[in-house]
Amino acid sequence: MLATPTIIDAITVTGAHALECGECEGGGTVTYMHGPYEHTRECDTCHGTGRHLPCPACSDGTSPDTGDTCPTCEGFAALI
Ligand SMILES: [Zn+2]
Ligand SMILES: [Zn+2]
Repeated sequence: MLATPTIIDAITVTGAHALECGECEGGGTVTYMHGPYEHTRECDTCHGTGRHLPCPACSDGTSPDTGDTCPTCEGFAALI
């Protein structure tokens, strides 16, 4: 079992809270249909937090300067 990753809080990086996640409308879960059944799963975009802000320092979790894991978002490419 993987450890639960900790996404960086946007307010520590940008001084402002991340925006409400557009994918789940801030709920942290998304509902999808599987055959006749409705399922709910954790939102991939915000990892269930309901908030999402694209990383201001990178686009894919990799630092464009060094090619290493982005220190701003620790590889998530997003802040909460
Ligand atoms: Zn979401
Ligand atoms: Zn980043």
